[in-house]
Amino acid sequence: MDNTSKPAMFPNPVILQSEGLLKYILETGVYPREAETLKELRNANAKHPLGFMGAAPDAGQLIAMLLKLLNAKKTIEVGVFTGYSLLLTALTIPHDGKIIAMDPDRKAYEIGLPFIKKAGVEHKIDFIESPALPVLDKLLEDGANEGSFDFGFVDADKNNYWNYHERLMRLVKIGGIVAYDNTLWGGSVALAEESVSEAKREWRRSTLAFNEAISKDSRLQIAFLSIGDGLIICIRLH
Ligand code: SAH
Ligand code: CA
Repeated sequence: MDNTSKPAMFPNPVILQSEGLLKYILETGVYPREAETLKELRNANAKHPLGFMGAAPDAGQLIAMLLKLLNAKKTIEVGVFTGYSLLLTALTIPHDGKIIAMDPDRKAYEIGLPFIKKAGVEHKIDFIESPALPVLDKLLEDGANEGSFDFGFVDADKNNYWNYHERLMRLVKIGGIVAYDNTLWGGSVALAEESVSEAKREWRRSTLAFNEAISKDSRLQIAFLSIGDGLIICIRLH
């Protein structure tokens, strides 16, 4: 039978980790629209040995869209590093918006601070030099903070994601959103443990457990995405 006139039906190829496609997306739709200060911060990251930890710009674009859709004014940032996602959030929320940002590494934050200042958004940021868990617990000691945040972004120690989740589900309002980064952990979640470098195994296990637990959490609507290094977006439903 001659099939040549009809396009054959093939399953979509796996797009994960397709470098050419990612380059196309970034160069066509992301970099041209990126704020100048964000671009400068991203370039500063490129010179930093750990600069790859900065949030993926395409994921950033999605986060900015969620912030706009939510009309977010009050947000939480767990894991700042040099502040790419922090600056992106600060640029997106209104002038009187506030971000509580936590990271034990102030030195990294100070690398990004000049760009945050240049962008004129430092007044929106309350940077707390600390591991996040005690800060979140302290916020919860004041009942007024419960359900008072519009948005949270978690991009820190993977073994604590579920601890962050339990707290953020109380701090974020019903209808609010929390996004979790690196939920594919370099693609290692779909590999056998033996084929993953030892340095990555512990957080791979944490990520697997977190992804499974969040997929079963009936308090949420979730979107499990392969953008960046994996992003799970959750809406608090009740
Ligand atoms: N969102 C950042 C990237 C964060 S990288 C960006 O867009 O650039 C992960 C960060 O988590 C690191 O800066 C690390 O210091 C921080 N971190 C590690 N343990 C943490 C903890 N217990 N609480 C808060 N932050 C933590
Ligand atoms: Ca990350």
